[in-house]
Amino acid sequence: MIQFEQVTKKYPNGQIALEDINLKIDDGQFIFIVGPSGAGKSSLLKLITREILPTSGQVLINAENTRQIPESKIPLLRRKIGTVFQDFKLLINRTVFENVAVPLEVLSRKDSEIEKEVASVLEKVSLLDKADNFPVQLSGGEVQRTAIARAIVARPQILLADEPTGDLDPQTARDVVKVLEKINKEDKTTLIMATHNVQIVNHFKKRVIFLKGGKIVKDEKEGKYDTD
Ligand code: ADP
Repeated sequence: MIQFEQVTKKYPNGQIALEDINLKIDDGQFIFIVGPSGAGKSSLLKLITREILPTSGQVLINAENTRQIPESKIPLLRRKIGTVFQDFKLLINRTVFENVAVPLEVLSRKDSEIEKEVASVLEKVSLLDKADNFPVQLSGGEVQRTAIARAIVARPQILLADEPTGDLDPQTARDVVKVLEKINKEDKTTLIMATHNVQIVNHFKKRVIFLKGGKIVKDEKEGKYDTD
């Protein structure tokens, strides 16, 4: 479970990115974080990965206060959290298979296990037939699905996606979010997606947290994204 208790984040230059955020996200939920540019969406995600700490209040991941996690245990926290970002770059001189294998290589897993796990996630994101392609040989949607496969190959408990549909046409964007939905349903991965994409949010009917000026202005089950 992820909990925000009276969280305020003020950057060193004085900019307040989030103010008095109270939030509870149960395991296995799928959530859209929406709101205009500068609303605080990325800061909220960075508080979960502990890239930043709250200025006041606390963030708890599985009841553990991120402020109290010792430096040496941060990699353990990050292993529980997969991330997909819009500007994510695949390694251009590696195939899809090799790109997805990277997190398992970092964990020194055996080749036989890497082979099995990578094939299994590539099947999940419908990319088995592109396993030997290099990134330049992929469409935008395939690049994003490769990024998703890489983010989930080590089986994180939580998957964070920051504008994963940013550069995609509407149909491809929908297909990418369908893949995220499948991961959420089949693997019970908690899914948190920050987005501007009104059509996507209104199509998928998930919990929607609406941020504006660093505050939660709406938090609705099966919410709509109204931009007025
Ligand atoms: P969003 O993801 O919704 O666009 P952000 O979390 O990136 O919002 O930003 C929230 C506010 O905090 C914005 O006003 C932004 O300019 C500011 N901000 C973000 N990161 C920093 C930083 N490292 N230093 C100072 N201000 C920042």
